[in-house]
Amino acid sequence: MSATLIDGKAIAARLRVGIKLAVNQLAQAPGLATLLIGDMAASAVYVQNKLKACKEVGINGQLIKLPASVSEAELFDCIDTLNRDTGIHGILLQLPLPARLDAQQFISLIDPAKDVDGLGPVNYGLMAAGLPAHVPCTPLGCLALIKSVRPQLSGLHAVVLGRSRLVGRPMAELLLQQNCTVTIAHSKTPDISAVTRQADILVAAVGQPELVKADWVKPGATVIDVGINRINGQLKGDVDYAAVSTVAGAITPVPGGVGPMTVAMLLANTARSAYRYAEKQYPQELAA
Ligand code: NAD
Repeated sequence: MSATLIDGKAIAARLRVGIKLAVNQLAQAPGLATLLIGDMAASAVYVQNKLKACKEVGINGQLIKLPASVSEAELFDCIDTLNRDTGIHGILLQLPLPARLDAQQFISLIDPAKDVDGLGPVNYGLMAAGLPAHVPCTPLGCLALIKSVRPQLSGLHAVVLGRSRLVGRPMAELLLQQNCTVTIAHSKTPDISAVTRQADILVAAVGQPELVKADWVKPGATVIDVGINRINGQLKGDVDYAAVSTVAGAITPVPGGVGPMTVAMLLANTARSAYRYAEKQYPQELAA
């Protein structure tokens, strides 16, 4: 058996068409400010991808580059200025920050209404309470990918590998809201393959190249690979794609799976934020 390929690139492209139509209906283009600190090559590539995608849908993407030596006071002032800028509807702090800066402290300074990455404590709390919130882009994208092949998730067993604030935890929360039975497994979970073999839906977000093997996967399972690992200049996921695709029912590739959906959800969250500021209803038929 060969698994159905879940084509994140194509699904994200369709989402961008809807987001562009929604953005076109606003009097003022949404503004997304991205703060890039230091000169990490991978971060610079991610930011350029986001800016390109912003342009494609009519979002005004602004890049604010700060040196790795930026002081805490300067970064505070920068976020404060963006919080008060009426042309900015989303603020993104590109991670990772230089080690001496506490990322969570600065994310917490972003106005929750503009925290389109959904990483601040207010949005996390709102999401966990099932209230309207900016939901982190990667798990939101994963959920859309899962639903593209399994529209009804109620009663399914979902296993999330990884418990980070960025991916694992919010992913588990979203799957719980879909009435899945959810298990979170992580680096301290014993006999992890016995847990993953129970999964109808398996989301791997661990940052360990090809950790998930074919015998970790229940036949027919939907497998979402969040991992991005650079090995000898090549991108590898957290799932052994070649082997697992002989067992799984559906699987995302790396690259071309979760990555493009993360960017599409960032655009969607920014467009939604601009609609809220304009006190307009986001067109339901275009909802991502
Ligand atoms: P993280 O380092 O913050 O968290 C990793 C989690 O995996 C931890 O909870 C840890 O307990 C768990 N873990 C580590 N080793 C394990 C093991 N051997 N078995 C089981 N669990 C283990 O990472 P993160 O920010 O959640 O990102 C995870 C991966 O997803 C990384 O490769 C990252 O680059 C990638 N990522 C991709 C996207 C995307 O858009 N595609 C977005 C965010 C993160």
